[in-house]
Amino acid sequence: MRTNPNIVITGTPGVGKTSHSTLLASSTGLKHLSINQIVKERGCHEGWSDEYQSWIVDEDKLLDEIEDEVKHGGCIIDWHACDLFPKSWVDLVVVLRTDSTILYDRLLERGYKEEKLQENLDSEIMQVLLEEARESYDEEIVVELRSDTTEDIEGNVERMERWVESWKEEISG
Ligand code: ADP
Ligand code: MN
Repeated sequence: MRTNPNIVITGTPGVGKTSHSTLLASSTGLKHLSINQIVKERGCHEGWSDEYQSWIVDEDKLLDEIEDEVKHGGCIIDWHACDLFPKSWVDLVVVLRTDSTILYDRLLERGYKEEKLQENLDSEIMQVLLEEARESYDEEIVVELRSDTTEDIEGNVERMERWVESWKEEISG
């Protein structure tokens, strides 16, 4: 049994996963697991894809790497996919959403090239990650939150803090 919940924060690149995860980790003491960083640093990949401009993730190796830590509880899992994490690991899935013109500017600033930028915008408009989350987890644990402004970040982080508190109260009876 976990005494701290595991939260997946997911969404299209640029929606604010890492910004939210960092703040939530510092205010709650939960641990920020940046999957991007783990894939890179612990070599959970089969090389770099020039076509996709990203690592080709070895999902089995990744899951092996983080399993002990996540099963212990208290992790904020920050990644642009969610369906690979077993249901039994996850207590809350937050899908961040951003207005497409705002997201366009953020990805441009990040230096995304036209094709990759358009692919990610399409993915946000088609709400690919929200559908993936809804298909992979029970609907009660999937929450969609807006991430257009810095006020949104503050509000979302407060909301997640309250959720963590009530989760802990509930399991401690
Ligand atoms: P992700 O981890 O989902 O790719 P980041 O947290 O790295 O996204 O955010 C990408 C960029 O957009 C950063 O420069 C961040 O400051 C900005 N950003 C993200 N969310 C918001 C928001 N809700 N309001 C204003 N800026 C944001
Ligand atoms: Mn990120």
